[in-house]
Amino acid sequence: MERKIIIPPAIFVIGLWLFFSGGAAACLSGQETDSHRPDVYPEYELNIALAFDKHAIGVHEKMTVVNRTRATWERLVFCVTQAVHPSVFTLDRFALSIQKEAQTVTPSIRRSMLTVDLPRPVRPGEEAEAEIDYRLNVRKLDQYEIHPAGNLGYGAHVLQAGDCFATLTPFDPDRGFREWEYAPVGDPYIYPLAGYDVRLSAEPGVTVAAAGLAEHKGNDWRFSLERARSFAFTASRYYDVARRLVGDIPVSFYYVKGFERQAKVVLQTAAESLDLFGSLYGPYPGKELVIGQNAYSSAMEYSSFITVAHTYIRDYTPAKPQLLLSLVAHEISHQWWYDAVGSDQVMEPWLDESLAKYSEYLYFRAYRPPLAEWWEANIAVRRPDDTFIDDSIYDLADSTRTYSRVIYGLAPAFLRDLRKTIGEDEFIAFLRDYYTSGAGRFMTAADFFDVLSRHTDADITPLLRNYFRKPPNIIAEKPQGDGL
Ligand SMILES: [Zn+2]
Repeated sequence: MERKIIIPPAIFVIGLWLFFSGGAAACLSGQETDSHRPDVYPEYELNIALAFDKHAIGVHEKMTVVNRTRATWERLVFCVTQAVHPSVFTLDRFALSIQKEAQTVTPSIRRSMLTVDLPRPVRPGEEAEAEIDYRLNVRKLDQYEIHPAGNLGYGAHVLQAGDCFATLTPFDPDRGFREWEYAPVGDPYIYPLAGYDVRLSAEPGVTVAAAGLAEHKGNDWRFSLERARSFAFTASRYYDVARRLVGDIPVSFYYVKGFERQAKVVLQTAAESLDLFGSLYGPYPGKELVIGQNAYSSAMEYSSFITVAHTYIRDYTPAKPQLLLSLVAHEISHQWWYDAVGSDQVMEPWLDESLAKYSEYLYFRAYRPPLAEWWEANIAVRRPDDTFIDDSIYDLADSTRTYSRVIYGLAPAFLRDLRKTIGEDEFIAFLRDYYTSGAGRFMTAADFFDVLSRHTDADITPLLRNYFRKPPNIIAEKPQGDGL
């Protein structure tokens, strides 16, 4: 995810960075160890009826999953983030079958979790299928609203629908399907890889932006995604689209008419980011990149799809381009650090956000060196009392400002100091290895330091003590000399 808080223009000028917004017991590794077929790989069929003018979305969802774990499932858990807003989410129907036999179940919704205790377990090798009908009453957003609350909403020109579909939570071999509390900061959701087959209909004159376009005829679209962490779309009556081929990656930017100059900037930044991150981290994980102008002041990452803040597009000037450029580069880097390499965004939010934030620096250093200095100055935030980068979203939930300072300021500062300590070449080699090792999986802080230990013998203990509440014990665990 991402971020950002925008504050009214006067404050905005003063140092917006300070207000940037942007999850341990992670224990998510283990269920996606097979790079070809995760043990738990839900397949979603979404039939979406978008009533754009009425700001309403009806969803008929079918989720099919086969238990390829060794565990017996007693309970299924879905993330229904929008249910935290009772006026937004309405569940109309939930039906479940196991091995094609209909089951009588009573789903329970508490905050953002929909749980179903199974009348009979789903054993290894068996299939469960859930049909879920629900309505989303899309909320009008203030233009300065941010995530996560604003991920579903509409503004003057655009309706955005992100983090609003019922998704099976990650499976933990020790705890079953994960359950977590919603928090109003950061990205309070965790997505396992899944397949999406989406049919969407809207009124005439509405343009829909989303990844995985397979068919488009009149008012009907079909989108298909494999190994995706999420599906989201934006829609508008005012969209135009600018396209560019970057290597073999088609890039599309759906922008509100009138922002043609910004469209060129966004596409150029996207092309540069794809080139740079592909060369630094490894091949782009998707088949395309779709970008949609949204209706609030955050930008957000989804699979092969990102949204870019309306306010950042509107306020772009060539004399002060850094906010829009950093936002686009940041979101694109999430295709590596979120979509490909998953992490627990609830308990270890620093893992993907520090890398995405640091990617902004690498982008500026490569293409706009003077702005790299601006970036460094802007992560030099005052550390909120008793905060560390390995804090969860709950530790940082008292304010978006606290979350932002820690996750978008301190966490990338740790990476900057790490690079300085271990050396440039070693740092980039580590990032490549972390990407290669983590693609298609969930990675934890322990995995992060395990990969890091393959690339350096430098003593990073002072760094760990400074930045981490629970400093990883990687130095002590490493063999010391030959033991004699
Ligand atoms: Zn982010």
